[in-house]
Amino acid sequence: MKNLKFIIMAVAMIALAACDTEEKEGKKGEADFKYLSERFADLNILRYRVPGFDTMPLNRKKLIYYLSQAALAGRDIIYDQNYKHNLLIRRTLETIVDKYSGDQNSEDFQKFMVYVKRVWFSNGIHHHYSSDKFLPEISPEYFAELIKNSQDGSFPLKEGQTVEQLITEITPVIFDPTIAPKRVSLDADKDLITSSAINFYDGVSQQEVEDFYKQQRMMARKNNRDTLISFGLNSKVVKENGKVVEQIYSINGLYKQAIEKIVYWLELAMTVAENDLQKEGLAKLIDYYKTGDLKTWDDYNILWVKDLGSRIDYVNGFIEVYGDPMGNKATWEAVVNYKDMVATQRAEMIGANAQWFEDNSPVDARFKRKEVKGVSAKVITVAQLGGDCHPTTPIGINLPNANWIRAEYGSKSVTMENIMYAYDQASQGNGFIEEFAASQEEIDLQKKYGFLAGNLHTDLHECVGHASGQLLPGITGDEMKNYHSALEESRADLFALYYMMDPKMVELGLMPSLDVAKAEYNHYFRNGYMTQLTRVELGKNIEQAHMRNRQLIARWCYENGKNDDVIEVFRKEGKTYIKINDYDKLRALVGKLLAEVQRIKSEGDFAAGKALVESYAVKVDPVLHKEIKERYAKLNICPYSGFINPVLTPVMKGDEIQDIEISYPDDFTLQMLDYAKKYSFLPTGN
Ligand code: ZN
Repeated sequence: MKNLKFIIMAVAMIALAACDTEEKEGKKGEADFKYLSERFADLNILRYRVPGFDTMPLNRKKLIYYLSQAALAGRDIIYDQNYKHNLLIRRTLETIVDKYSGDQNSEDFQKFMVYVKRVWFSNGIHHHYSSDKFLPEISPEYFAELIKNSQDGSFPLKEGQTVEQLITEITPVIFDPTIAPKRVSLDADKDLITSSAINFYDGVSQQEVEDFYKQQRMMARKNNRDTLISFGLNSKVVKENGKVVEQIYSINGLYKQAIEKIVYWLELAMTVAENDLQKEGLAKLIDYYKTGDLKTWDDYNILWVKDLGSRIDYVNGFIEVYGDPMGNKATWEAVVNYKDMVATQRAEMIGANAQWFEDNSPVDARFKRKEVKGVSAKVITVAQLGGDCHPTTPIGINLPNANWIRAEYGSKSVTMENIMYAYDQASQGNGFIEEFAASQEEIDLQKKYGFLAGNLHTDLHECVGHASGQLLPGITGDEMKNYHSALEESRADLFALYYMMDPKMVELGLMPSLDVAKAEYNHYFRNGYMTQLTRVELGKNIEQAHMRNRQLIARWCYENGKNDDVIEVFRKEGKTYIKINDYDKLRALVGKLLAEVQRIKSEGDFAAGKALVESYAVKVDPVLHKEIKERYAKLNICPYSGFINPVLTPVMKGDEIQDIEISYPDDFTLQMLDYAKKYSFLPTGN
């Protein structure tokens, strides 16, 4: 369980919801704010707002500004890590965009621009999600024309290289599908390293790398050095004079030109740190960037995870290892954020009532926890994204990754609410809810309360759902085997659904009325019964645990409420719809299923768990599936989204920063060209 960063790609949840804008902080300008900027290929470019920034005291604004600069300063690193030719390609493309003297309105040039934007979006020439190499829809001849007609001396030429030689070098790398076809190959039949385009290794085989790290661990053990450190996390492995060696990322090593800048901004951040612990953490991070020492990295993470008091927080470093087929080396990423006090109160309110929820649940008393500890998590506002977190970003982060630090010191779990809000807003008007909702009333309710409903559901699911219940003596919790995840997610969802519809929620001030709960029920059952099928390939069954759990709940409640007509499935003009007729009875069914799933888990009743999942969660109705896929395809929704960052600009008086202003540009191309000018620190081709 190393990777705890979860990513929700557009389609998943966004088709859902809207928020009562009156209830959000910082509404100024909200009405005219355009969340969706543009679409190309399979991608959306979105914008996000940073509510509350304007009214912050100057020192906090400065801290956010310095950390944001540190987040942008490492941009080149992720390009180089993703593929060794990415910087060469990106700079060549950018020179063309900047200098091409021919017709920039031609169809071919527009196709070229789509390719350029895809490269910016993916931080390289491989798809950010599938990791497959994508190709431009122009000819190599036209590409050569573009280069020849953009000459002004600013191409990234090697010493003595002519533009013709550059064309010869770069053309196959871009156009030949057999060169570097995949960024990360997980095909176990091949050498994982040599079949992946990722730039963590050069001239070494999988076996050599495995041996190298085996030996490092052995040496550490022999010398009584710390064996818990994450060997290899921040380095590239190469061969020098026939010997396998590591090139460490540090201010004196690989990527030094970018790391120097990162450190420069972190040092400025230290001068306006909110408290000593945060300052100490920043100092330790700088120390780590200077030495590349992984023990220092661990020490830093301990300080970082302990810092719960600061309003402003950040992620900055070589952190996630998804990019390495060996799951060892980390890509560089950065996020700057601050705590959303109002939304965090919501999560804390739920956590504070965890015992009440437990005591009043419909579960058998033997399976209830006598003492519940709510899991505390904070809700954050993202102010800047960088490295591997930009343009595409996770919506939640749970760090650090080192298991021993998590066990000993815990972890920080955050939800990026303004990012989720942007996804949600951008999905408004894409036609999804209009296509699948059973009535105008459902659409209206969803638009009014969907966003709040979704957030409350997540809070209940995470903060109290998973934390509820207890096992009978002798039961270990792994009795459900391959059905474990689907059942565990069902349990947390059922707990959340049950309490969504409880008057207690209104009493606690978490929702204005139970209409919020109705919006959640409408969405949940529509999604579980039909719309989530848009993400399953035709002819396949449901594999993913969360999807299984949703269908389990939706189908079980539908079948078991049939006699009372609780949920109605009907057809109108050749289309299928689902409608809830009785919310109270549905809530009772949710409670009944919750009690049963808890019993199954508490008693370790594998047979019953298996029967539940196999009967309701796995199989797909092929006719309905086909219908839903066809209806979805007609909507033309792009499945992936990335973001334009807001821009922070210091207002100077002499040498002094007097204020920091925030603005929200809406042109992805201009932002990328601006970044190219300001944050290109690495040489072309490391
Ligand atoms: Zn869960």
